[in-house]
Amino acid sequence: MIYLIIFFVLHWFASVFFQTAFLHRYASHKMFTMGPVREKIFFIFTWMSQGSSYLVPRAYAVMHRMHHDFSDTEKDPHSPHFFKDVISMMLKTKEIYTGFVTGKLTAASKYCQDLPVWEKFEKFAGSSYTRLAWGALYTAFYLLIIIKFDLSYFWLLLLPIHYLMGPIHGAIVNWCGHKYGYSNFNNHDKSKNSEPIGFLLMGELFQNNHHKYPTSANFAKRWFEFDPTYVILVMMHYTGIIRLQNK
Ligand SMILES: [Zn+2]
Ligand SMILES: [Zn+2]
Repeated sequence: MIYLIIFFVLHWFASVFFQTAFLHRYASHKMFTMGPVREKIFFIFTWMSQGSSYLVPRAYAVMHRMHHDFSDTEKDPHSPHFFKDVISMMLKTKEIYTGFVTGKLTAASKYCQDLPVWEKFEKFAGSSYTRLAWGALYTAFYLLIIIKFDLSYFWLLLLPIHYLMGPIHGAIVNWCGHKYGYSNFNNHDKSKNSEPIGFLLMGELFQNNHHKYPTSANFAKRWFEFDPTYVILVMMHYTGIIRLQNK
């Protein structure tokens, strides 16, 4: 049982970290810089951590930049205030995101500047075969542990969370982060700081702070707030892996 819990927790936090660090803070906001080789390493780690639900950084970034400009208005790609439930919000988000991945949708050029692009890798990582292979791997691991330790097959109910890890994190942040919690700033939108569950999303749920200071790498703004991803980024900065802006 412990192996399944460790696997779940590792997959959850690795996926959250690369989503917030690479897709959000780097690809969308350029809060730090790094050389081309390191950028490719981040691409690969993001793919490995998100696995079957890998999100293409450039499409994520374009959509996210629009979210900032149109936060909680009708043009926001995923404001919870324009959908009756989280599923319909995420289906619409998926449609817009897929449009940017395939090129069916285009955005104003100001949203498309300075995006990380690695076409060959995006094609491979985003293909149905690769996604299915990840899904098969998660399933095989669960079955192996269940059979080896004679555990209940109810553990398999956790598998859909592994299959959809990236979008599930996105759904929690987009829904809760603009609906539940407190505000430090008036951003003329409905962004909130959804504490105390924020640690599960490694700082991403400080949406109210982040919309006020969208280029600040530290999402925590008051003495009792803590952004674990920022601490990791500072360590990566001082070890020379990345270069944080404004440091
Ligand atoms: Zn937001
Ligand atoms: Zn942002």
